[in-house]
Amino acid sequence: MWSEEATVIQESGRDLTELSAIGPFTANFISRWLKDRPEVPAPPPIRDGFITYASAREVTRVHAEWVGAAKADHQMHTDETDGSSTIDEMAEAARALGRERIAITDHSRTLRITNGMDEARLAAQGDRVDAVNARGAGPWVLKGIEMDLTPEGAGDMEPAALARLDLVLGAFHSKLRLRDDQTERYFRALANPDIQVLAHPRGRVYNFRTGLVCDWDRVARRASETGTVLEIDAYPDRQDLDIERLRIVAAEGAWISIGTDAHSPGELAFLEIGIAAAILAGVPRERVLNLLSNRAFAERVGLVRAAKAAKISERGTNRVAGGKRERIDTTPGKSGGSRFVRREAGGRFSTDQTSAGRSVAQDKRVKAKNAAPKGMKDRGD
Ligand SMILES: [Zn+2]
Repeated sequence: MWSEEATVIQESGRDLTELSAIGPFTANFISRWLKDRPEVPAPPPIRDGFITYASAREVTRVHAEWVGAAKADHQMHTDETDGSSTIDEMAEAARALGRERIAITDHSRTLRITNGMDEARLAAQGDRVDAVNARGAGPWVLKGIEMDLTPEGAGDMEPAALARLDLVLGAFHSKLRLRDDQTERYFRALANPDIQVLAHPRGRVYNFRTGLVCDWDRVARRASETGTVLEIDAYPDRQDLDIERLRIVAAEGAWISIGTDAHSPGELAFLEIGIAAAILAGVPRERVLNLLSNRAFAERVGLVRAAKAAKISERGTNRVAGGKRERIDTTPGKSGGSRFVRREAGGRFSTDQTSAGRSVAQDKRVKAKNAAPKGMKDRGD
């Protein structure tokens, strides 16, 4: 998550202690490794297929034609659920980064551990979004949600409440460690008439969970057929979808939406990781939701809604599946706002981007995390 690679710092004769979390002792090790490179083994699957923030910045720097993608961020959280900051604070930070459109996508009711919203809270948040937009300072703040989906593909919110939103993300947060093929589960989620984006589709987390298994060719094709957009969650330890799957998505013609999944203002900068992944995978620019103007974006979302509604009336699909809820994702840190906090608890770990935004609220969360019941870390499913 350093904004520059250690090699660049070293080669330009600067001190490696410029990097966050690096003191003289560790700097000495890194310096020796860079001069006399040790054999580096291939990463295990649970840490494979991730790119560094520094390399992402380098990719976006040389692909100026993608600069427009950085104008929109389609997933972030606020203090209404498990984020650290208000809508205003997120909007202000996004404005400073040149964003022209951001989606506020807090969690839905089932994710109790994140203080998920019911319909009344969602509506009240919508009023606050309207108030922010009315001030006209920009960016355009979209009313959105990250709705939890059951393994049967059903949401947990009234369709009428979702119809009033500008963007509805659906995401799996339970039964994420099943090892058998989940293609049918993806099909059911993609057919959900109320969602336009399937968020962090694999459900993987760096060094914690490898994510669901499915036939990505068929899933990507089905996404294309249903109009459901697949997400690149640009959060550093998610990067979901990853470059390898995105190549399949590019080939099958599905659309892509990029969001940071930021839980604090400092994390908004990581959008570049998602943009770089799209570039490296060869995703065509004309199928990236972020590259649409605000007006074209609203039209596109309307089209997806209409297409899905038409399919429903054709097939009479039931919105509410009968499946009972299973264990919920308690990915460390998801419950406490910034997921970096969990790493910090075991030692110093921060980034140039997030350390600036680190606040009393975050310190409080570190304390809350440390006070969390033992074994909580292992319950993430
Ligand atoms: Zn999520």
